[in-house]
Amino acid sequence: ELVLVTGANGFVGSHVCRELLNKGYRIRVAVRSESKANDVKKVNPQHKDRIESVIVPDITSSGAFDQAVQGCDYVMHIASPFTFDIKDNEKDLLLPAREGTKNILQAASTHKSIKRVIITSSFAAVVDVSKGLRPGYTYTEKDWNPATWEEARKSDNPGFVYCASKKFAEEEGWDFVKNRKPSFDITTICMPMVYGPVAHHIDSLDHLNESSMQIWQIVNGKSNKIPETVFPGFVDVRDVAVAHVAALTTASASNSRYLVSSGIYRFEQVTAIVNKKYPDRKLPEGDTSRLDCYDIDGSKAERELLQRPYINFEKCISDEVEQLYELEKKT
Ligand code: NDP
Repeated sequence: ELVLVTGANGFVGSHVCRELLNKGYRIRVAVRSESKANDVKKVNPQHKDRIESVIVPDITSSGAFDQAVQGCDYVMHIASPFTFDIKDNEKDLLLPAREGTKNILQAASTHKSIKRVIITSSFAAVVDVSKGLRPGYTYTEKDWNPATWEEARKSDNPGFVYCASKKFAEEEGWDFVKNRKPSFDITTICMPMVYGPVAHHIDSLDHLNESSMQIWQIVNGKSNKIPETVFPGFVDVRDVAVAHVAALTTASASNSRYLVSSGIYRFEQVTAIVNKKYPDRKLPEGDTSRLDCYDIDGSKAERELLQRPYINFEKCISDEVEQLYELEKKT
């Protein structure tokens, strides 16, 4: 079966591609350039006969995915900007998130062969940023980020704008299903910070994706301060990939929303894990007790999609940092 994967060259997309290929699917990767398509093929040399590519230069243009969806059985819509380095809230974050989702659903709705569309959403679409760390509260799949487009358009807080972009993108999916009643169903996957080893092509440690960069900046030895943990939920990228692929064929995932979250962390745990494994690094240490903050209930995805316990923080960070230090030696 053929799966269209957007954002396939990114951190999350590469792990999803790897999991799809390992499970025997054929994939068609939608990326912005030929060289990015080659990057995906290069990191999966043993499967290259099951990888097709299609170049979609601008996901916000109407009809962007009309060719890409042809003949596909499933769609994984992962592409969306995850950056806090923005100049124009609408152009850089809000529009690619929302219009990308709208355009892929529109394209999918004209192809009866498509059974399900998985939309990579985020805990950002769930959390109420204005309530801060909200000790004692447990977020579930019922919660929605209350941000409005107007607030997001005008905000000077890129974190707030990013969260809003994910809310509008996911909402677009649910509105499409409700109003257009397409023949496919959708599943949305909402994960907090995603950490763990990278599976995509990286030309330099200066060009890591946002969440990997956050860990690298803590462990690269260049700072003696541990940053504040603003988004204290995490999940391992390998669990995210398993959840995405399981969602394709799990009956209960039909028109279902999942929080895919392993638990709560704080950055002080990162340096403690690294110092234990690499005492010579002598990273700054701090309070590693549980942060006084909300909980995130990831149990539905654990039960229905993973069907095994989530990877814990120690393994997630330890595997990621081991790989980052290897890459450091090579660059
Ligand atoms: P990456 O930056 O590694 O990947 C983002 C992917 O989306 C890339 O393939 C990128 O393509 C593509 N993309 C970004 N902006 C655009 C755009 N304007 N037009 C077309 N393609 C675009 O980030 P992640 O892999 O971490 O993010 C993937 C998804 O996971 C996103 O939807 C993100 O919101 C979500 N997510 C990530 C979390 C994390 O902690 N990493 C947490 C929760 C959700 P290109 O290389 O061409 O820029």
